[in-house]
Amino acid sequence: MSSLEIFSPTDLNDALRFIEHDGRNAAVIASGTDLLPRMRRRQISPSILVDISSFTEDLRYIRQSDGTIRLGALTTVTNLLESPMFYGNLSIVREAAMLFGAPQVRNVATVGGNICSAASSEDLIPVFMALDAKLKLVSARGERTVPLKDFIVGKRQTAMKPSEILAEVSFSPPEGHGWTAYEKLGRRNMLILAIVNEALSLTLEDDVRTIRSARVALNRVSGKIPALAVKTNDFLKGRRVTDQTIAQAQKVLASELSLTSDFRGSGEYRAEVAQVYLRRLMERCTRQIGGHS
Ligand SMILES: Cc1cc2nc3c(=O)[nH]c(=O)nc-3n(C[C@H](O)[C@H](O)[C@H](O)COP(=O)(O)OP(=O)(O)OC[C@H]3O[C@@H](n4cnc5c(N)ncnc54)[C@H](O)[C@@H]3O)c2cc1C
Repeated sequence: MSSLEIFSPTDLNDALRFIEHDGRNAAVIASGTDLLPRMRRRQISPSILVDISSFTEDLRYIRQSDGTIRLGALTTVTNLLESPMFYGNLSIVREAAMLFGAPQVRNVATVGGNICSAASSEDLIPVFMALDAKLKLVSARGERTVPLKDFIVGKRQTAMKPSEILAEVSFSPPEGHGWTAYEKLGRRNMLILAIVNEALSLTLEDDVRTIRSARVALNRVSGKIPALAVKTNDFLKGRRVTDQTIAQAQKVLASELSLTSDFRGSGEYRAEVAQVYLRRLMERCTRQIGGHS
């Protein structure tokens, strides 16, 4: 039987120094709501857990400066729900947080753990992708910033090096005539892992009809990988919001989805739901933009 050690670093620098040398066999643990069930199922078998959960002074915060919102990696889903920041054109974050697990999970589940799990059932990944979030990765050698859209490189795979820790997620609210919205389909109302989840950040030109930018992101675009619906987003840019545009965009979305079936739903069903959600998200955002301009 393989043994498991737990390392409790004194601070972030201590953790970074440790994983610089022993990162390959180690896994960072925040609250463990994703990691521990996976270890129990023997999907991963790290030999050392590096416990960062006590670094709340350094890594748990929600700040806003110069129009950018910054979330420390240890920010919990409950922290998101309790923040006054996620109303209006940023209510997408609140919507996703409200649909997340159950209160017990929300109280501990962290933003950083959600993103680093890179799973196709996570609520916050499509939301932050739609918001074009950037990730601050720190290591003993320094720090770098990676756009979230480039961070997830495969099924449960990220661009993070074993010597790195995710420290911060940052994004800006949509500018001008912009709005955001989120839809999630699960099998029940609580403790649901998403069958389909889809997020949209939509910005219109001053005429409040022409699309300046659309960022649709889903929990699965190809296989089990969360990603932006790049072709759909390109198609929507510069078009007027009409029934016909949305109907055409639904077809483009269907053509770029390459979904597999599993016990939660078939690929065909997921693609059908994704198209319905696209229309719903477009209508919700344009209605809100119309009401606020
Ligand atoms: C009952 C239950 C219900 C759930 N419901 C939902 C749901 O509705 N929606 C949803 O999205 N998820 C859900 N989850 C999954 C899980 O709660 C989330 O993914 C959560 O955000 C993970 O955060 P964590 O702090 O527990 O991460 P952990 O389990 O500690 O870590 C997850 C992964 O990220 C890595 N990691 C964590 N933090 C960092 C960091 N700062 N830097 C580098 N690597 C890091 C770990 O090594 C691990 O690989 C549920 C889980 C359970 C058990």
